[in-house]
Amino acid sequence: MKNYEMYVNGKWIKARSGATREIRDPANGELIARVPESTREDAAAAIDAARAAFDKGPWRATNAQDRGKLLFKLADAIRKEAKIFAELETRNCGKPLAESEFDVADAANCFEFYGGLATKIHGETMQVPANSLSFVLREPVGVCGQIIPWNYPLLMCAWKLAPAIAAGCTTVLKPSELTPLTALELARLIEACEFPAGVINILTGPGAGAGEELAMSSKVDKVAFTGGTVTGRKVMESATSNLKKISLELGGKNPNIVFADADFESAVDGALFGAFANQGEVCSAGSRLLVEESIHRKLVDAMVKKVPRIKLGHGLTPGVKMGPLVSAAHREKVESYIRIGVQEGAKLVCGGKRPEGKDLAGGNFLEPTIFDDVKPAMRIAREEIFGPVLSVIPFKNEEDAIRIANDSEYGLAAGVWTLNINRGLRVIKQLRAGITWINTYHPTFNEMPWGGYKQSGTGRELGLYGIEAYLETKQVNVSLDEAPIGWY
Ligand code: NAD
Repeated sequence: MKNYEMYVNGKWIKARSGATREIRDPANGELIARVPESTREDAAAAIDAARAAFDKGPWRATNAQDRGKLLFKLADAIRKEAKIFAELETRNCGKPLAESEFDVADAANCFEFYGGLATKIHGETMQVPANSLSFVLREPVGVCGQIIPWNYPLLMCAWKLAPAIAAGCTTVLKPSELTPLTALELARLIEACEFPAGVINILTGPGAGAGEELAMSSKVDKVAFTGGTVTGRKVMESATSNLKKISLELGGKNPNIVFADADFESAVDGALFGAFANQGEVCSAGSRLLVEESIHRKLVDAMVKKVPRIKLGHGLTPGVKMGPLVSAAHREKVESYIRIGVQEGAKLVCGGKRPEGKDLAGGNFLEPTIFDDVKPAMRIAREEIFGPVLSVIPFKNEEDAIRIANDSEYGLAAGVWTLNINRGLRVIKQLRAGITWINTYHPTFNEMPWGGYKQSGTGRELGLYGIEAYLETKQVNVSLDEAPIGWY
């Protein structure tokens, strides 16, 4: 058990109230840490630190090369401690170690990507009348409030911090109150890498109060939020206080579409991986499986046969493929959707309950669950469950598949399985989603833009697109004439 403090203005501090929160391993309930439970006042002080570092500190004068070097240094520091980070991530949020290892490597790569991009930020000159010179300067947007969820705790830190720092912003980042540990360990590396005080502040605490202050404060220039759509809407409302810039990465109910001409075994694997990786606690999870009628029964049977290979257990146990859900309350929410699915008349073909076994009794485990014959109007086909629950919906033809796929308030991700590349691309072009796959599901890259259509969010993270959210654009117009304009 470790007692943590939070990292504000280059110092390790407690919450002003002295309050702390217990952090427990979701696989067995073991107390693993206590962290400060900050309030609105703590958040306001952290914002002041970020404000001072941006307005008065040396950060504004730091050149892009130095910002890039800091990010490279941080990437290297993470890699040196990859094992520590991966194990801690698994103990805090439950995911299997192999997935945590992947996330840690990806987080280091993200810092490196934006370290490289820091020196490539540039404006342009335009063809204006000959007696003028006009050019564009790109400048940091200012102080950022960054709020992240619990399903990819370290990776979400990287997605938020790396572009903000590359652009020259300062930031207060609030991890989820459920999974703050790798963010705090990251703060230890940020201190060791000698980022100037106040440039990156890691504030632990709940959304109510601390998170609200980041979204509301008029001293914050930009809020970047990843989380649920309901919370995203509140953040958007709060951000109107000073019309701050805003980016939102929200939920999804993503269609994974299997045509009869797909490679069958790949589609079975892709459907299961799309739905159950990270316990299904993934915004881009393929939680709606649309299957062409002619192979529908065969595909469902093949999935059900393979599900027992998804070994449940503590994420640190070798061979485990699915860990516990993040919290008891979240498991109850997911279970309530399973009850809803049964009541709605969908056919429960596997899972649907807590697994048996003494070693699993102390954790928030839930069996991988598949509902078949789901109708597009059912709640389990429309609402984000954010757990290991897959809804299978049969479809008749291409047109039918596209219609069902797009019939959602969300538009984050989508997958298509077919060996006919014309069909694959034809369907992808008609899907209203920001992240798409053909004959694969889930792989994405730091180089590529991440974000959703419709109510899955606004703006894009990652890639060259991701830095835009942290940059202002200034036009500079210079007269080349020496005489007065003589207008009056
Ligand atoms: P959540 O919305 O409950 O919380 C997210 C963060 O917001 C947490 O840090 C929380 O403390 C904070 N928060 C809560 N209320 C707030 C308020 N009123 N003002 C400011 N901050 C507040 O989400 P969660 O349960 O942590 O995460 C799951 C959700 O995140 C899912 O809906 C999932 O789809 C989404 N998600 C989206 C992406 C993406 O890239 N689109 C990635 C991961 C997760």
